[in-house]
Amino acid sequence: MHLKDKVALITGAAQGIGKSIAETLASAGANIVVADINLELAAQTADELKKLGAKTMAIKMNVAEKTEVENAVKQIKEQMEKIDILVNNAGITKDSLFIRMKKEAWDAVININLTGVFNVSQAVAILMMKQRSGKIINIASIVGEMGNVGQANYSASKAGVIGLTKTLARELAPRGVTVNAIAPGFIKTAMTDKIPEDVKNKMLEQIPLKKLGEPEDVAAATLFLASNAADYITGQVVNVNGGMYM
Ligand code: NAP
Repeated sequence: MHLKDKVALITGAAQGIGKSIAETLASAGANIVVADINLELAAQTADELKKLGAKTMAIKMNVAEKTEVENAVKQIKEQMEKIDILVNNAGITKDSLFIRMKKEAWDAVININLTGVFNVSQAVAILMMKQRSGKIINIASIVGEMGNVGQANYSASKAGVIGLTKTLARELAPRGVTVNAIAPGFIKTAMTDKIPEDVKNKMLEQIPLKKLGEPEDVAAATLFLASNAADYITGQVVNVNGGMYM
């Protein structure tokens, strides 16, 4: 699978799963826009990607801020000329039991994880529709499919991303743009490092493959969906979860 001369915009790409996706797409020949709320780290990641032969650009993008997103997408279009692949990866957690969940924690997670996908997809979809081609890949979560104690805000945001993916897939299909989601299970990153060891061990019991996933597992599925090999696939949710949810 090769992505030579394709331009991929990846949100939250400075670290974690987003960075791994950036490395995998760059290794396949894509030029990469590393968008993140943390510009310093994004610039560092973009520099590292240059070693893989990619043309790169780092940009500050808080996906929850519509105007900032629109301005950033304009800048990307000017500098990179087009956007062929959008990976909506930026996401956060603010966990607590539902009954104790503060409105601020609810709003923050919905604003970044769900409204963020709305903001970036809207700004980019218009370019892709004009190009009559494009691939949008939304990083959802297993938790959006099966729920999880302590993650009412997060599971609602990710279930929302899955619904948005299916509607966008229907709306953009006539313009040659595919829209799919990936629902990772529990993947080794800073986000899951926060989970206490005993909770992690309980989770492992529920994973048929008996291990947490690696960021590279999610990146491999992203590469497939971003490539021509997936031209006839749209509106789907690809589970990368070790069999935890089937
Ligand atoms: P991560 O290591 O925390 O990386 C997320 C990146 O997004 C960070 O660089 C973060 O910056 C950035 N970010 C946060 N808020 C942002 C915003 N408003 N605008 C732009 N960038 C923002 O997380 P991850 O584990 O790689 O997760 C990536 C995606 O996979 C998320 O959507 C997550 O929900 C999803 N996912 C993860 C797992 C898992 O097990 N790790 C499982 C299922 C789904 P700061 O750190 O500076 O805030």
